[in-house]
Order: sequence, then C-alpha cells, then structure tokens
Amino acid sequence: MENKDSRFETKVIHAGYQAEEHLGSLVPPLYQTSTFTFANAEQGENRFAGQEEGYIYSRLGNPTVKILEDRMAALENGEAALAFSSGMAAVSAVLMALTKTGDHILCSQGVYGCTFGLLELLKEKYGIGHDFSLMESVETIENAILPNTACIYIETPINPTMKLVDLEMAAKIANDRGIPVVVDNTFCSPYLQTPLTLGCDIVVHSATKYICGHGDVIAGLVIGKKEFIQQVSRTTQKDIGGIISPFDAWLLVRGMKTLPVRMDRHAENARRIFEFLKHHPKIEDVYYPGDPENNDYAIMKKQMKTAGGLISFTIKGTKKTAQTFMNQLQLIKIAVSLGDAETLIQHPATMTHAVVPEEEREKMGIGNTLLRLSVGLEAWEDITEDLEQAFQKV
Ligand SMILES: *Cc1c(COP(=O)(O)O)cnc(C)c1O
Repeated sequence: MENKDSRFETKVIHAGYQAEEHLGSLVPPLYQTSTFTFANAEQGENRFAGQEEGYIYSRLGNPTVKILEDRMAALENGEAALAFSSGMAAVSAVLMALTKTGDHILCSQGVYGCTFGLLELLKEKYGIGHDFSLMESVETIENAILPNTACIYIETPINPTMKLVDLEMAAKIANDRGIPVVVDNTFCSPYLQTPLTLGCDIVVHSATKYICGHGDVIAGLVIGKKEFIQQVSRTTQKDIGGIISPFDAWLLVRGMKTLPVRMDRHAENARRIFEFLKHHPKIEDVYYPGDPENNDYAIMKKQMKTAGGLISFTIKGTKKTAQTFMNQLQLIKIAVSLGDAETLIQHPATMTHAVVPEEEREKMGIGNTLLRLSVGLEAWEDITEDLEQAFQKV
C-alpha cells in the first residue's frame, strides 16, 4: 500500500485512495451527485453542526473531489488541498481570503493575464492595492514590501518570459515578517517544483494545464496548511462557489497518473527544440530556463527538477512576421493553454496578455514579436521540421 514516504511516481497513482473503502474498485469511482441523504434528521443536524463526519452537499465536499485533493496535498507536500472550477477560481479564492480593503499585494513582475486583471479588479472595487517587483534580489523584495503588505504572490517561471524567482530567498524574507507567500506552480506542476518545501505557504494551480495533461478539463487547485485550507473552504470557496464538478475531478485523477512520464517527455522535447531554436537565423532571443547562458540557470538548477516544457522566443521582424510564421505552422496548433499532448503556440501580446496595457506589457518584457511554445509529446523531429518549414516562409 502507498505510504507517506512513497516516491512521487507512486503517490501520483495511489495517494488519497483506498480501494477497500469503495467495494474494491481499482479506479476511484465517480460520485456524480449533488447531494447526500441523511439516515435521519438528527444525522443531518449533527453533520451541519460539524459534530459528525460525512458528506452533505457537493458544494461543501464530494468523495471523488476529496481523492483529487488528498492526492494533490501529498504531491505538493502540503497538509491539505481544495479543488476549484478553474485556476482563476483558485487564485481569486486565495487572494480574497488573504486580503481586506486597505491591504497591499506584492506580485512578481509578470503574471498570467487574468491574474493581472484580478489584481486590477481588487484595486478598483475593493481598495486592495498591489505593486509588481522583479524580485531578483533580497533588496528588491525588501524595498517593495509595505507596512500593509498582506501577501506576496509569485509566478515562477513567469508567464510568458520564463524568468525565475528564487523561492527560498523570497520565502525567507516573507517568513521573517509573517507575510504569507503564494506561488502559482502551474508551469512546473509538483513534479518539477514544490514551493512548500522551500518555505512558501500556499500553492495555486491551473490544473487545466500539466496536471490534467489532456486538454479536456478546466480546473484549479489550492494547497497549504490545514487551517488555511479550512478557512478558504468555509468562506471564499463555499460562499462564492467556484467548485469543481465531480466528473472533472475524476478526469484529473485519471490524467494525473501519467504526470511524471509526461513531464519527462515534455522536458526532453523542449530541450531538443531549444537546441534547434538557439542559433536559428530567424530568431532574436530564446527564453528557456534550461539555457546554461540564462541568468536564472542557477535558480533553475536549485529549485526545479528539469527546465520544463515551455519555451518563449522572439522572431526577427514585426508583429506581422510573428503572425505569418504562426499561420504557416501545420502540426503545431495556434491556441492558448499549455501542458497538453499537442504542441501549442500563442502570441501573448494579442492573446493571453492582451488585457495588460501596452506600457505594463513592455515592463513585463512582452513585445509584439514574442511567441510562446508549449512543447507537446509528439516526436521532437516532427515539431522542429514544422518550425523549420514555417521559418522558411517568413
Ligand atoms: C492558465 C493559467 C491560469 C488560469 O487558469 P484557468 O484554469 O484557465 O482558470 C493561472 N495561472 C497560470 C500560470 C496559467 O497558465
């Protein structure tokens, strides 16, 4: 049987599930139900009062969802986890749980476009301010912390420029001041990076990406200390209601089993494609944490298992060149999202980061010739051949 000390590859298949509790079913059953019947009125009373364990209503908990949550908590080395209907439902539930009017959020310079949008919304509607910081040294972080800073929010690698933040360094500064650190671990998945073991407090995921891995679910996850997870569960999850459906949780439990196998292949393919792009005459710059000449290479070695499956690059020319190049691709699909079996390419300035004003985009390093490639699981030779034939047409 799986135990606490099992290795990642074992936990991702077994953690959080006991077949004998489910009539011996090898695969976790799908509890596709909105509500749970009580044996009698008193049992209902006791469950609502929290005096008896048991399910009540699927917005408050569901056995299939619980398997996903327990498995993710084990993989991130956290005490507990909660699943959500999307990555943004997870991010918003966490930020709303941690802040109140008058507070301040310190955020890494460059975040997912909708996280940027959420920070703007929190400022405009609820008076919760924010600042961005490159977080490249102890001083830059210390100088950016304000007396009312309620949390530090970090994406690493940063989307889509692939810059890294040293999580151990950031966590140490924040821990000394009692400020919680939230990390969006979507680009890595717990297989490549476990922020909680580096001193960070809360991990959020868009499970839509590598955790699902098959491009057929939108979902989010939050992992952290039991007390914080219970607080979110009883407030910003229960009352705002962005819960995952049991079927989507079931699909995630199914897709996750192959996470380590997939991530190894994504990373190996990405390394091959980086080699191909690095000296390509049509390319200006390549952004890939596995590049030994990259400023953040030492941080990658320290906190990530491999450099992962994402590469960004700038093509020589203009926005038009970038778009023409994309239109010539045949195997590689033009789509946002990442972490799927299919290789996907997108143009951040007009797609994922279109909501970010141009001035902010420039500061984040997102120009009009920047493209982001989510390297899939196809034969790497076929991916590079497709890239090459498209380069020849621009
Ligand atoms: C996709 C993504 C999100 C948002 O997740 P959804 O599941 O689309 O709501 C947040 N952060 C990062 C880094 C992402 O890539």
